[in-house]
Amino acid sequence: MSESALKGSLLAWYRSARRDLPWRRARDPYAIWVSETMLQQTRVETVLPYYERFMRELPTLQSLAEAPEERVLALWSGLGYYRRARMLRAAAQRVASAHGGRVPSDADALRALPGVGEYTAGAIASIAFGRPAALVDGNVARVLARLFAVEDDIRGARGRAVLWEIARRLVAQGAEDPGDWNQALMELGATVCTPREPRCAACPARDHCRALALGVARELPRVGPRRAPLVVRRAAVVLSSRTSVLLARRRPETLWGGLWEPPTVEGDLASLVARLGIDASAITHAGEVVHVLTHRRMHVEVAWGALPRRRVWPLPGAEYDAVEPVPLRELALAAGQREHEHERENGRPRERERERERETEPEPGASRAHSTLARKVLRMANVPARGLPWKK
Ligand code: SF4
Repeated sequence: MSESALKGSLLAWYRSARRDLPWRRARDPYAIWVSETMLQQTRVETVLPYYERFMRELPTLQSLAEAPEERVLALWSGLGYYRRARMLRAAAQRVASAHGGRVPSDADALRALPGVGEYTAGAIASIAFGRPAALVDGNVARVLARLFAVEDDIRGARGRAVLWEIARRLVAQGAEDPGDWNQALMELGATVCTPREPRCAACPARDHCRALALGVARELPRVGPRRAPLVVRRAAVVLSSRTSVLLARRRPETLWGGLWEPPTVEGDLASLVARLGIDASAITHAGEVVHVLTHRRMHVEVAWGALPRRRVWPLPGAEYDAVEPVPLRELALAAGQREHEHERENGRPRERERERERETEPEPGASRAHSTLARKVLRMANVPARGLPWKK
């Protein structure tokens, strides 16, 4: 295979066929950073409305660095994997304080920022600054494994090393724009060299593809068996009145840190009831919620009870740092909709309000976000909730 001919074909195709995506319209490193962070584990179509809103509300790195965490999380609400949002904000603060507000152009300096791995560093350095930095994400791994007929498991250490070595060699070759080259590989993986049905007949790289020549395009890439998800048993208690429900906030360093949920423990309901100091005979079983994450399958036993009148509640477990009754009215509002409430108070038209509701409602299936699990638990106990509060 002539690698320079491969690059020529793929770049010519990319420049004529690429999708018009908002982060491709300028080489703003901040915009590219936000988009690449959102696109991790999330499809382009899902990301688009979130990206547009995020950039509208926080258009510069400085505005992100100065934004309160709960505002950033609210803008992220529905995308899931909230650690990405926290890390992005922390990295923006580091750039503001240590780099004079200018995003570093060097991949090594980028990798030193919170939450920036080799992929994101390569994307920012190459796309925003034209540096010959490689990147390998799921799409690029699949494309390279097929183009070069890599037989190793692409999730294994050896397979990953082989793919990164190919990616580094290719991006460093020739005088072409490294950012366009990396995006050409990503675009090919997203639109032509797709996981199950690669469209080889329409592929601009078909004359250079070893997998196609060997007749193994559909068999590659090789991936080892996924680990079976770990089954986790939890118990949650929903204590509600006509106006309020008891919610607890997770400590920042835990999974889903900073988010609110009905008090939950790993283990059985009896220990949770005892920790909250409530009368076990007044609690009724509501059902079981099953929630599947990448490596975990959660079975949550849900119980319901009337919310006793109390001023002070004990923390339901070590993973919480606050517990309090929250007005049910707040649960009717998704995180970003507090301003929607504000608009209503200020007399904006109802049609506009409905649009905002659609914007802020998490997309079905788009995320396995914690809010989805917490809402499932609340619904199991007949407490309707569109969103959950985010607050300090
Ligand atoms: S020819 Fe087929 S397998 Fe090879 S890169 Fe193109 S779409 Fe993928």
